[in-house]
Amino acid sequence: MRILFALALAGALAAQAPAPKKGGKKTVEGDDRQGYTDTPQLPNQQWKVHDAARPRPPKVAPGMPLLSEMPPADAIVLFDGTDLSRWVGSDGKQVTEARWKINHGVLEVVPFNGRLVTKEKFGDCQLHIEWRVPKEATGAGQGRGNSGVELMGRYEIQVLESHENLTYADGQAASIYGQWPPLVNASTPQGEWNVYDIFFEAPRFEGEKLAKPAYITVIHNGVLAHHHQEIIGRAVHRRVATYAPHGAEEPLSLQDHKQPVHYRNIWIRRLKGYDRQ
Ligand code: MG
Repeated sequence: MRILFALALAGALAAQAPAPKKGGKKTVEGDDRQGYTDTPQLPNQQWKVHDAARPRPPKVAPGMPLLSEMPPADAIVLFDGTDLSRWVGSDGKQVTEARWKINHGVLEVVPFNGRLVTKEKFGDCQLHIEWRVPKEATGAGQGRGNSGVELMGRYEIQVLESHENLTYADGQAASIYGQWPPLVNASTPQGEWNVYDIFFEAPRFEGEKLAKPAYITVIHNGVLAHHHQEIIGRAVHRRVATYAPHGAEEPLSLQDHKQPVHYRNIWIRRLKGYDRQ
């Protein structure tokens, strides 16, 4: 049943920035609410990147109340509401201090202050993370509560207000950004917490060559959003994602998309396989 993707070629950046306009002319067809018609074809899918024609996943109201899952004993607690000692910041070029703020145990994106990046690196992992778009947040399309959980700093599970806010299917909450919409839309209303439980298999490289792509399973508010889905490369806007070699472990990052988003209860476990001695 699993679709195997052809693997595309090199060099992509994660930034969800608008495509450059040639000669100052407007060349973009579409917008980030309705989607695009001038983007490239996704490999082994019938859709283009951010395809305006791609159906939005059906909505499924999660079972309530959502239970905040406390970390098991072997988890590395990345944020428990008290401090950012396990994080640094990044302005896209260099490491900075962690510039997001903690307010009553909640971690808040401070827009324009850069990503948060873990000091520690991770490969295969189980990640639990809770997020919400504050009730007062405004904006539309990709502009309402946009952040992201960036596994290995590259492979983004989108964070966005998607209960009512319309955007292209492969860019809504719980999408593998620019690649796959979630199986269903289990978003809570704006102002309420969402929970992601993520099971991630890191890609493997042999020298410059991709030996095995990344795979991801995502449970959004207790509802399956991706089931061992292949990731086709680093998250990228309006282009087809590609892989570039990187370490077996890399830092986890949280995206600053210049909009207010809240996080809490973040923990991670390394996955080391069966039959360990
Ligand atoms: Mg994002």
